[in-house]
Amino acid sequence: MPRAFVTGITGQDGQHLAELLHGKGYDVFGMVKGQSNPRAQQVQEEMPFVELVSGDLADLPSLVAALEMSQPDEVYNLGAISFVALSFSQAELTANITGLGVLRMLEAIRMVGGTQNNPVRFYQASSSEMFGKVRETPQTEMTPFHPRSPYGCAKVFGHDIVVNYRESYGLHASSGILFNHEGPRRGIEFVTRKVTNAVARIKLGLQHELVLGNLESKRDWGYAGDYVRAMWMMLQQDEPGDYVVATGETHSIEELVTRAFAEVGIDNWGDYVRQDPKFFRPAEVDLLIGDASRAREQLGWRPEVDFGQLVKMMVTHDLEHEANKAGLAVPD
Ligand code: GDP
Repeated sequence: MPRAFVTGITGQDGQHLAELLHGKGYDVFGMVKGQSNPRAQQVQEEMPFVELVSGDLADLPSLVAALEMSQPDEVYNLGAISFVALSFSQAELTANITGLGVLRMLEAIRMVGGTQNNPVRFYQASSSEMFGKVRETPQTEMTPFHPRSPYGCAKVFGHDIVVNYRESYGLHASSGILFNHEGPRRGIEFVTRKVTNAVARIKLGLQHELVLGNLESKRDWGYAGDYVRAMWMMLQQDEPGDYVVATGETHSIEELVTRAFAEVGIDNWGDYVRQDPKFFRPAEVDLLIGDASRAREQLGWRPEVDFGQLVKMMVTHDLEHEANKAGLAVPD
């Protein structure tokens, strides 16, 4: 059986990827950090097939030990400080984990495997946030980077060091430049889930207001379940490479809000939404829209869930989830 090692196993993508790999017959090893990590326990309950391995992206010897223990054929580096807003207040931590963590993982692979004799394949979770103040629209693998947050800067370092290790040491190392990808497992701090959860709670009478920041920025939002397929496909190629993964459609936060409220039959969403400067960022990424032609042509990848289906899926999930928690009936 092929063996896969996944960092960031407790996150949205880690969970989707673990399910995908398990379905394909992989032995899945998931790295978790810290003592009595509550999210690790949750992963263990929901996905008992994942073997948890202790390690920390801040600690190279722990990565070497984790790889020695799990002996993977494929390594997926999804672990990061991934919330853009937090990266402004914890910039050094973000640089260390999201940026230098990639370098440590690559070094660990070189020490444990990744040679011609034992070619471990590596996937790096690069991000559309690297495009930042976009130089061209839509964005492709050739679009120059201009990150607008410590998170974006750290991801650029991660991306560049993967290219460098590929070119310097011949590693089979690929990067997926993934545009925003969402779903019912998305953290509540991200705008899609914040909105769909609030809409569900407002519909159920559990909440009366949704407080947001910038409603004008635009994102190319896809479904995380579709995007982890692209990660796996990249590592099945004979040659490593970089791929934009995106839907090619963009929508504003305001469109997201309108659509989510419409799902529960509320048209006058302005009565419930308030803006607060505390949710605005020191620098903003105004517009993202990706051109995934390369992934389509070389990997045969295409997304299956569109924006409307994604919002519906998330609102439906949050309605059920919040109603169950509160002991209420799910509205029709
Ligand atoms: P990001 O693209 O990785 O930063 O994903 P987010 O979901 O955190 O943010 C997407 C966009 O939504 C950004 O342009 C934010 O400025 C905007 N936004 C507006 N209000 C909010 C809010 O209350 N929370 C978050 N997270 N983002 C917001």
